[in-house]
Amino acid sequence: MQCRNKPVPRAHKCVAAVSTEKGRKTEKGRGLFGRYPGKISIAKWRAWGFDRAMLPEIESLLILQSKDQAIRKLQRELARIPMEEDNARSRLSDDQAAVAAIKEKLQANEIAIKNLELDIETRRTTILRLKTQQFETKKNDEYTALGNEVVRYEGEVSGLEDRELGLMEIAENLKANLSDAQAKLAACQTLVDEELGQLAERRKNCEQQQAELEAERSAAAAKIEETLLSRYDRTLAAKKDAALVPLQHGTTCGGCHMKVTSATANGTKAEKEITACEQCGRILYLDED
Ligand SMILES: [Zn+2]
Repeated sequence: MQCRNKPVPRAHKCVAAVSTEKGRKTEKGRGLFGRYPGKISIAKWRAWGFDRAMLPEIESLLILQSKDQAIRKLQRELARIPMEEDNARSRLSDDQAAVAAIKEKLQANEIAIKNLELDIETRRTTILRLKTQQFETKKNDEYTALGNEVVRYEGEVSGLEDRELGLMEIAENLKANLSDAQAKLAACQTLVDEELGQLAERRKNCEQQQAELEAERSAAAAKIEETLLSRYDRTLAAKKDAALVPLQHGTTCGGCHMKVTSATANGTKAEKEITACEQCGRILYLDED
């Protein structure tokens, strides 16, 4: 194969960044890749040994798989961003609703005050008319009756004015509440804008990384024979997590954790041909000394 005797793949650099196993001997029995099927750290790779005659096809596929897994991780992160944006915006809705509710109350209160003022004005006009009539009349009983009407209307005006004062007081309170609610909304808007800005930045970074990884993936895929590449692609599409998994404890598939046949186990250990788990179809590679 064209990639025989290749140097250590740079592809695993990114995985090494999250590895905590550097310099530590791998736990016996679990295997080098037991915890993260298909991912290898540089430390593990080195611990494993360069002189090892790993199948070059497997080596190329592992590079490809590391790219695919990184791409999938970015895709999942990108898919979460719109949801996080919606969540951020939804935090505004309570504060927006509070401002709208207070504005509505204020408006209703202003209408009520205007109506009271109209009622007061009507009565004052009536009082003036009654007083004119009272002044013009020459009959004592009519004079008294008109006087009583004036007193009654003045009493009504006084009552309406008291109600108007009450509504004006409510308006003052509502204005103070509106001011508080608007300040709270503005503060929330600032936070949400910040968060939306960070999400936009994250989207940009993810898309950039994805484009880089896609290019690296294409370069890695070009080195793999077509039938094998197609088999790998089908397996990864079906299994989602990994198309290549380590043979664990020399007997078990690192993907479905079922025992493989001894012929398959021996084939994997011999590292002369591509072997796969009979249960799940994932391609197996050797991860133990
Ligand atoms: Zn399996």
